[in-house]
Amino acid sequence: MNLQSRRDIHLFCRRLLRWYDGHKRDLPWRKDCNVYRVWLSEIMLQQTRVAAVLEHYRTFVEQFPTLQKLAAARESSVLAAWSGLGYYRRARMLHRAAREIVSKRAGQFPDTAAKLCELPGIGRYTAAAIASVCFGKRVAVVDGNVERVLGRMMGRNLSRTEVWQLAEEFLGPSRPGDFNQAMMELGATVCLPRQPRCPFCPVSAFCATRGELPRNRSNAPQVKKEINYLFARRNGSVLLKRRSQDSSLMPGMWELPELAITYNSDVWLTIRHSITTTNYVVRVIKGNAPSENQGSWIRLHRIAELPLTGLARKILRLAKVI
Ligand code: SF4
Repeated sequence: MNLQSRRDIHLFCRRLLRWYDGHKRDLPWRKDCNVYRVWLSEIMLQQTRVAAVLEHYRTFVEQFPTLQKLAAARESSVLAAWSGLGYYRRARMLHRAAREIVSKRAGQFPDTAAKLCELPGIGRYTAAAIASVCFGKRVAVVDGNVERVLGRMMGRNLSRTEVWQLAEEFLGPSRPGDFNQAMMELGATVCLPRQPRCPFCPVSAFCATRGELPRNRSNAPQVKKEINYLFARRNGSVLLKRRSQDSSLMPGMWELPELAITYNSDVWLTIRHSITTTNYVVRVIKGNAPSENQGSWIRLHRIAELPLTGLARKILRLAKVI
């Protein structure tokens, strides 16, 4: 049986929702559909796996429990709380949107996808997710999971436009927020990118593929790079350097001073670190600050409060500084 009629689509929705009700993961932002927390989780989940978000989400909400607290915070505190999640532009936009909602909208989130899209950092996907989950609006959500599920259902790779059209078509009038979440949940837990768990799929009867679709796009090639950092410590302080505010990548974040070449001492630590399509081999050299170094000596107790890059945080954790 494939999806050929309105009746099939109706049945598909019913089976999917029934499965979602019994199998959805117990995630903290699902407890009460609070719009501030749903919005925060959606921003954190962009480009990031649920497992990596959970602990950051918990500490972030502890520090900024409300929209008003977030809006009143300094940007450096927001970036520090975001540290380790990467893609810091998301945190800056989140903060800017919080200030805009408080100052221009009396603290009220817009309740339609179109209006939500007007806020900084909220695109079509996030707007649709918030509008459907928090305000019950009948608007479809498409992410990588939904795209994969729909492609396999239909038995072919779909264009972006086709995916959005199909997602709208499948969305029934009742429980649009749950339907959207169920589609994403199916993709995240059953219809996996590799080796989908078809025997456990609640909608396998409608699926044209029941397995992986041949890919028609190759992944972006990975680039290898090497980078050296200095770890210098004296009198309860560590030498750190702030990235330029004009930098296109992580502006204003703190990191260890970079060394053009390894100098003078042995490599203390070698780690691997990946950012999008670049795989770095990172060497950390312990030593004294060279005279030409433009860093700042930061007291140990202040370091964890700084907006550190993910890599700096990783190195400082390994050095047991934070
Ligand atoms: S049957 Fe398999 S491939 Fe098809 S939607 Fe379900 S898990 Fe995905």
